[in-house]
Amino acid sequence: MKIETLSCVVKGKNDVDVVTQHIDYDESSRDQTLVQITRGGICGSDLHYYQHGKVGNFEVKHPMILGHEVIGKVVKTNDPKLYAGQKVAINPSKPCLKCKYCLSGETNQCETMRFFGSAMYNPHVDGGFTQYKVVDNAQCIDYPQEASDDVMAFAEPLAVTIHAAKQAGDLTGRKVFISGVGPIGCLVVASVKALGAAEIVCADMSRRCLDLALKMGADKALHALNDDFSAYAEHKGYFDVSFEVSGHPSSLERCLAITKARGTLIQVGMGGAIPEFNMMMLIAKEISWKGSFRFIEEFNTSVEWLSTGKVNPLPLLSKVFGFRQLEDALKAAANKDETAKVQLSFE
Ligand SMILES: [Zn+2]
Ligand SMILES: [Zn+2]
Repeated sequence: MKIETLSCVVKGKNDVDVVTQHIDYDESSRDQTLVQITRGGICGSDLHYYQHGKVGNFEVKHPMILGHEVIGKVVKTNDPKLYAGQKVAINPSKPCLKCKYCLSGETNQCETMRFFGSAMYNPHVDGGFTQYKVVDNAQCIDYPQEASDDVMAFAEPLAVTIHAAKQAGDLTGRKVFISGVGPIGCLVVASVKALGAAEIVCADMSRRCLDLALKMGADKALHALNDDFSAYAEHKGYFDVSFEVSGHPSSLERCLAITKARGTLIQVGMGGAIPEFNMMMLIAKEISWKGSFRFIEEFNTSVEWLSTGKVNPLPLLSKVFGFRQLEDALKAAANKDETAKVQLSFE
């Protein structure tokens, strides 16, 4: 069947539009489901495509549907586990399931991952900011009907932070430092708390972000420039685990200084080159510095934590726009002084 759908596309730098598209759903399909998208969160990469027309080397070469933080309702499916009207969170990952990483269960490292809203390949992989979308059955993660859209649209970013938290091993009773508490840093706070961290200290330059981190469960929120961190650097460091979520070299330096010897530093923030890197601190303190990228089965964990109320992301939700106001929503999301997470409603 042919379906008409309105889609939020990026065409290049500062060039977005809401356009009519036509998609095809094969009603006899065994493995695909037609979904009506209800809500989508705007993420840093969506903003990057809007503001720069690219993310890293991935440049927008033709109109691409934005968005990878989406939820929806099943319209048509042949999957016996799904039914029409059922609410689902859409896992935006589509790994090949054939490469060596997929075969060993490390699907987030898939060599040919097709992730929603990415210009890595040409033609690009369209995202989820559209009224109707055909997805793989396996991408539909069902959840209780009574869970709210506001909450469930956080499934993807929370999955990212649960994966990051798990890179640090068992967090029970651990002292944790989180440097950079935008929406992702704040969800790291919630994730490490849910996983049993005993003490959570955060740093950021924005008072508003620090207040949100406290609401999300941090014990202490320090101003990155104005507060004194020297006591945490004594005795070769205080924290068992640090999460660097800002991508700034100075933040990495601080994490190295206040993570204790033989502790773990998880790199979540994405930055460019580091001009001066204190390699000696990493070596002499034997710090394990690990990257964290996207998620694997943590998407399901995230859906469960959100639908059961184990994590409440609502302090982070600043505003919901109708999808036809795409550009206003992107501008609001880019205004870091005033907003944390901005969502688009497709209903
Ligand atoms: Zn995201
Ligand atoms: Zn693969």
